[in-house]
Amino acid sequence: MWCGLCDVALKPALLATRIRFYGCRNPRCPRPLVEADLVETLVWQAFEYRFLEPIAEVIAEEQRAILEHALERVTIGADLGQMCYVWRDLP
Ligand SMILES: [Zn+2]
Repeated sequence: MWCGLCDVALKPALLATRIRFYGCRNPRCPRPLVEADLVETLVWQAFEYRFLEPIAEVIAEEQRAILEHALERVTIGADLGQMCYVWRDLP
């Protein structure tokens, strides 16, 4: 995942709350941390919308593997309403 404001990769962050976040590597970035579960849900929905009929039962680990295969990059703009996906060409 990439920061659309800084054009650098986001890095995972784990806070004491045990909730996973992604944060920008640029310390001056204006973007707040984004909640990983929320972003990953949005990405999965985008994937389903593009490639699949909704799948009832795909466990989280499978989702992640599928998305790693299918996605070149996700760029998050100023907020989560501005997500940009670059998909790989699937066979
Ligand atoms: Zn940034």
